Amino acid sequence: MKKQYLLAPGPTPVPPEVLLAMAKPIIHHRSPDFIPVIQQVRADLKWLFQTSQEVLTVAGSGTAGMEASISNFMSPGDKIIAINGGKFGERWLKIAQAFGVVPIEVKVEWGNSVDVSVVADLLSKDPSIRGVYVQASETSTGVAHDIQKLAALTRERENTILVVDAITALGVINLPMDAWGIDVLITGSQKALMIPPGLAFIGVSEKAWKLQTTAKCPRFYLDLKREKDNLLKDSNAWTPAVTLWIGLAESLKLMRAEGLDKIFARHARLAQATREGVRGFGLEVFAKNIPSDAVTAVVSPQGIDGQAVYKNLREQYGITAAGGQDQLKGKVFRLSHMGYADVFDVITAVSGVEMVLTRLGYKEKPLGSGVARAQSILIKE
Ligand SMILES: *Cc1c(COP(=O)(O)O)cnc(C)c1O
Repeated sequence: MKKQYLLAPGPTPVPPEVLLAMAKPIIHHRSPDFIPVIQQVRADLKWLFQTSQEVLTVAGSGTAGMEASISNFMSPGDKIIAINGGKFGERWLKIAQAFGVVPIEVKVEWGNSVDVSVVADLLSKDPSIRGVYVQASETSTGVAHDIQKLAALTRERENTILVVDAITALGVINLPMDAWGIDVLITGSQKALMIPPGLAFIGVSEKAWKLQTTAKCPRFYLDLKREKDNLLKDSNAWTPAVTLWIGLAESLKLMRAEGLDKIFARHARLAQATREGVRGFGLEVFAKNIPSDAVTAVVSPQGIDGQAVYKNLREQYGITAAGGQDQLKGKVFRLSHMGYADVFDVITAVSGVEMVLTRLGYKEKPLGSGVARAQSILIKE
């Protein structure tokens, strides 16, 4: 037997309460049975997104939310700023191009956060720019971008929206949608929301709804206005992913019971312990300035292939972490501490890394030095 540990940045582990809720017999989405589920989910998503606006839920992975954030608010030929600091930033460019939207790329060296002054310059030179698209947490590099500062740039511009892919940030760090003036806030089910893959969530500001009325990109299934009109009647445009909604209602209950401040504090502490843990073992964290509190990308030591670390964690110890993508393949491995994660997930990750690297010939630090450093942080209240 080999016990399995899922420590990848999505899908993440699902709490037993949620699994059990989803095991119940299916109910009909247009029957009175489903109305309380919709009502609870509507209220709890507003709470989670820190907004008074409706949050739309669509069946699809996180990328469906990204696509909807282009197709609903832009017209072919519109210019957007696409902040590209990794695999997911790159996706903005691809989606924009697919819809005939013109991306102005702000390329950020992998491992760094965006220089906000570069975005400010571009915006001030071109009043026609209609959107700024960014990740709150770039999962491929383990780096966060400064959303509050970016929001301050778009806030006073009537026809420019800030669109934030917070798929590994919402429910991890504080992103108060209304207070900061984030216009479109996106997340997915399989990351910090602790449910299986298959749902995307999109919060939309009043300013963005206004732009939606003139946006001409083609859309049908992901027409957010249609979703909103239905949601206001406690209904869905199409057959919702009923089972995932039931799981969502349960996971939102768990999140409410913990409270936003405690959720953010827990993630901050687990992330810090992970970073300090790997440093204690002589390793380097890939993020240069603002590290993500959802996932830590660790530089694989000289002469050791990061993919070998990923592979050995899985094969020897049943730990599914993540490798590096594209240019980072072989150079880093990634450890998640997001969602249904706690103290001993960090200990498992750090000690697993120590054991695997030692077996692969790494001799800089003795076994236990990273774990001890992590423990010294986690032992504090
Ligand atoms: C996981 C993730 C996505 C969405 O990916 P899907 O595979 O479509 O769910 C988008 N952006 C970021 C930052 C992510 O971590």
